Amino acid sequence: MPAPLDRSTTWRYEDGEPGEFSYARFSSPTVAEAERVLGGLDGGEALLFASGMAASTAAVLALLAPGKTVALAEGAYYGTGALLAELARWGLGYVEFDQTGPPPDDADLVWLEAPSNPFLTMPDFEAAVAHPGMVLCDATAATPLYVKPLELDCDVVLHSATKFLAGHDDALAGALVLRDPKTAARVREFRSRTGAVAAPDVAWLLLRGLATLEVRFARQTASARVIADRLSAHASVATVRYPGFGGLLSFDVADAEAAHAVETSTRVIANKTSLGGVESRIEARSRWEGERVPPGLLRLSVGLEDVEELWADLEQALPRRA
Ligand code: PLP
Repeated sequence: MPAPLDRSTTWRYEDGEPGEFSYARFSSPTVAEAERVLGGLDGGEALLFASGMAASTAAVLALLAPGKTVALAEGAYYGTGALLAELARWGLGYVEFDQTGPPPDDADLVWLEAPSNPFLTMPDFEAAVAHPGMVLCDATAATPLYVKPLELDCDVVLHSATKFLAGHDDALAGALVLRDPKTAARVREFRSRTGAVAAPDVAWLLLRGLATLEVRFARQTASARVIADRLSAHASVATVRYPGFGGLLSFDVADAEAAHAVETSTRVIANKTSLGGVESRIEARSRWEGERVPPGLLRLSVGLEDVEELWADLEQALPRRA
């Protein structure tokens, strides 16, 4: 069993002084335990947030100031670009760059995604950490099992813990893991001020998910490799993007109409959004991302079902010819 769930929002002072836990907006035992486990996996100080986007917002607002610029990996999660665009009216600049090469010189924060969602590119870590700015890596789709950005000299790791880490589509959470304790203290203070902390119930679900992360991720990787290979050989599939690990991949069919036909024809694979859950799901990304993605791009997150059952489902949903 994971740690006990403590739903309290207040704790008694000790000899008239706040102890480790006093008020849940600052921290709480179940949240602290999940942070200890995740921090151990990534090799830094973890802070849990109410969602991945709350973690992203905190990273930008706590670590930067008006007039600063973020260099964001091209093709990264579309919500990150949307957030940075939203913050432009607060004086934050943002540019996109190809993360397989060096970041632009004048950025104050380099924002990598390993691998990017849904284009599945991996960053050139060496080029990024040679940059004088701070380097953050969103490792949501890799998890600490495949990529540990702090060991590669990045400063901050970001996770949408909603995805593989929690793993069951029942917990919305985000995390920042920081290398430098002083920076972590700054972000913790910012989180207390703004109140974007994760709830204890969610932290408990995250702990339950983390207990099986390794076996889930190993099976998702094994199945996704088989599916990526078979898709590459399929007559109606133009491009398959898969980094060789993890449960996330994307591929292109002819156009938006063909993508719609595929996503509405699968039976085992759910037609829904998100990634990293035990249930496989597929969706045409153009519904969210518009012209940023090819119209026929389908994103597939491979779950824990039998791989042959998944392949049979895809095969019957795909057109026979291009
Ligand atoms: N980063 C990546 C790579 C994601 O895929 C997502 C969500 O899809 C997020 C961040 C945002 O996380 P959340 O939905 O938990 O706010």
